[in-house]
Amino acid sequence: MLRTVFLLLIACLIAPSLRAAELVVYTERKEPLVKPFFDRYQQETGTRIRLLSDGAPVLIERLAAEGANTRADLFMAVDAGSLWQAAERGLLAPTKSKALDTAIPAHLRDPQGRWFALSQRARTIVYSTARVKPSELSTYEALGDARWKGRLCLRSSRKVYNQSLVATLIERLGAKRTEQVVRGWVANLATAPFADDTLLAHAIAAGQCDVGLINTYYLGRLQHDTPGFPVQVFWADQGGAGAHVNVSGAGIVAASRKKAEAQKFLEWLASDAVQSDFAGVNFEYPARRNVKLDPVVTAWGRFKPDRVNVSVAGRRQAEAVRLMDRAGWR
Ligand code: FE
Repeated sequence: MLRTVFLLLIACLIAPSLRAAELVVYTERKEPLVKPFFDRYQQETGTRIRLLSDGAPVLIERLAAEGANTRADLFMAVDAGSLWQAAERGLLAPTKSKALDTAIPAHLRDPQGRWFALSQRARTIVYSTARVKPSELSTYEALGDARWKGRLCLRSSRKVYNQSLVATLIERLGAKRTEQVVRGWVANLATAPFADDTLLAHAIAAGQCDVGLINTYYLGRLQHDTPGFPVQVFWADQGGAGAHVNVSGAGIVAASRKKAEAQKFLEWLASDAVQSDFAGVNFEYPARRNVKLDPVVTAWGRFKPDRVNVSVAGRRQAEAVRLMDRAGWR
């Protein structure tokens, strides 16, 4: 009897440490893009990664509502604006990590270490290879010129990717000039804004419009599945600030009781061995420098990215939304 009680007591003491070999990730990045890496981490370290997947606004509200009782250890999102929001609401813990600071360039992480990019997503100009010469293209602003009247396709202004792009334009050009630019784009639209970037690329291929703005990985998927797809990437503003990049990234949840383990996992995701695959699985760019790219991505050539800190996407998001609204971008 005494022996049984003793064994039960030991089991109770051991159980929490067994449970500790598990992390919970609230992720906006889609399950097929992260699950293979979560499984690989478990194979390598024994730590199991469980995930809960939803849109960033839903996950942020959930984290806020759960407060100190949350089971989440990491928050992962696909837009710098969303990471900024989570940090602003006090949901992410500042993390001091030499490995992360070395791996991730400064403009791709929160200055206070509350989130770090894990991949870069370039949002640039795409064009019809049948009807547009690259020499006709230059900057985002120039898509507002009269020559593109009735030839431009855009995605909805409700999409955070466009809000982040406009936020960085406001940072660089000022609100007044940016509003002129956006009004120019709206005046040049060939058709109502699309619900997603893939539809936009198909519209260019089908001749509905000639140019558009896209996150390059959407085109990467199409080019991978359909060699010779008649839409190509043009790197915007290479003589100026550079092409707009956004990030997917993650931060450690402020209420996590496993911050050290969560940091280890984050450092693993940012490691040389993982970065190429993490970006490559979705035709994105690694956050870390000098990492091998997918061949589809390599074919687009090297480009100069805008090195403004991506947190501007969050800081100016509300302003960008109001500006797009005023300019009539639906
Ligand atoms: Fe996307």
